[in-house]
Amino acid sequence: MANNQTVDGLDTHFFNDVCKNFDHAARFTHHDAGLLDQIKSCNSVYRFRFPIRKGNGFEVIDAWRVEHSHHQSPTKGGIRYSEMVNEDEVMALAALMTYKCAIVNVPFGGAKGGIKINPKRYTEQELENITRRYTVELTKKNFLGPSIDVPAPDYGSGEREMSWIADTYATMNPGQLDALGCVTGKPIALHGIAGRREATGRGVAIAAREAVSVGEDMQKIGLTAGLSGKRVIVQGLGNVGYYSAKFLAEFGATIVGIAEYEGAIYNADGLDVEAVFQHRKETGSILGYAGAKQEFKSSGEGLEQECDILVPAALENQITVNNIRNIKAKIIVEGANGPTTPEAETIFYQNGGIIVPDMYANAGGVTVSYFEWLKNLSHVAFGRMNRRFEENSNLNLVNMVEGLTGVALTPVQRASIVKGASELELVNSGLEDTMIRSYHEIREVFKATDKVDTLRTAAFVGAINKIAVSYKNLGVWP
Ligand code: NAD
Repeated sequence: MANNQTVDGLDTHFFNDVCKNFDHAARFTHHDAGLLDQIKSCNSVYRFRFPIRKGNGFEVIDAWRVEHSHHQSPTKGGIRYSEMVNEDEVMALAALMTYKCAIVNVPFGGAKGGIKINPKRYTEQELENITRRYTVELTKKNFLGPSIDVPAPDYGSGEREMSWIADTYATMNPGQLDALGCVTGKPIALHGIAGRREATGRGVAIAAREAVSVGEDMQKIGLTAGLSGKRVIVQGLGNVGYYSAKFLAEFGATIVGIAEYEGAIYNADGLDVEAVFQHRKETGSILGYAGAKQEFKSSGEGLEQECDILVPAALENQITVNNIRNIKAKIIVEGANGPTTPEAETIFYQNGGIIVPDMYANAGGVTVSYFEWLKNLSHVAFGRMNRRFEENSNLNLVNMVEGLTGVALTPVQRASIVKGASELELVNSGLEDTMIRSYHEIREVFKATDKVDTLRTAAFVGAINKIAVSYKNLGVWP
């Protein structure tokens, strides 16, 4: 398969990097070369163009949807709205989705979409037109549907865009009972799920907490176990970055640096993430935030400051051979997809660091998307049937124990024991369980397989083995 390609006259390498990592990991498996090639290849690449009205004229928009693997149905992956989007990038991100779903045991194949626009240059009406037309084009070609391919938000898109997609698809498929399961990341009022908005960032924070909880691993890189007091720099204050920083702070870490495209801020004593977020909302920039002790003109400089953990949560190719030697962090937890190039990763490990790879670290989003899809197919919110029943049972038990022992609980104790689980609590419980289990699955492969050099390789090995089993079960491979 040709890995290197030129897109719009530019040499691109993101898909090539994903394939390089795959090939490296495949050496630690025992599968037939043809099967490995089938797993690695992008099954369907749909590139299309459509016109929209802009001002007094028209503009032609470039768009893609890539379904990387059909070993499970539906396929799943976000839609990126960015003027940097190209075919190579969408293919790479679709491939990462396949491996990511396998790692966290979410039964989907991988996909990704891209719309080549800078959303800031368009009015809300124009963005709606673009999104609805994109949805129509995908529906016409059978690239969208609750059992076919289910998009979600990614860089530059969010709940608003997902609503437009759901509404357009439902309109084109009247009477289809499960139509709203055609997309996830929808607002709660439109059959979204509690906890999806913050799921990726929460998952990143849990991934970091799990990685640093293993004393033996931390000792090897000269750190103590536990998040408490760990200094963290986050790149990107969008959906993933903001929530990663928020939950890392809640779990006891100190956010010392934040980098955005306009520059970076730093304070060794800690930054108040919410205050920085509000400052950016009001002024359009993180620079000028009163609680910062240092400011840097570029996002890149921000990554090179003193810290223990670096969370790149903006875009790919941020950590390369050009800056890896200047990174002070001992742990990189990849919130973004593909932020570290393979060459930079090798150097980082040689220098005694570890990387918690994107395919695992940012899988919280697709995990909760899976819960949302299940909710849409079952047409009932999680907890609706059993919450009150659980509360009544718990209440009976508490009353009985109080009666038998003569010990009366305080109202707060009573409320915390009696309470039945809400949808948000169930979602967060499922997310936490998934992130913790998956980390240890990866770590087991890392420890048990001779010469597996990175957590990423271990994650790939586990994913390849699971996908290979699917193909074999489908009878596609002997
Ligand atoms: P977003 O659009 O909400 O936020 C991205 C942020 O990064 C923006 O604030 C932007 O200004 C900032 N940014 C852009 N270039 C930058 C630079 N050079 N330096 C610093 N900041 C920069 O996007 P998002 O949804 O948070 O996605 C971020 C990354 O996480 C992407 O790689 C995406 O594929 C990945 N991801 C997102 C999700 C999700 O659920 N949204 C799930 C998994 C992975």
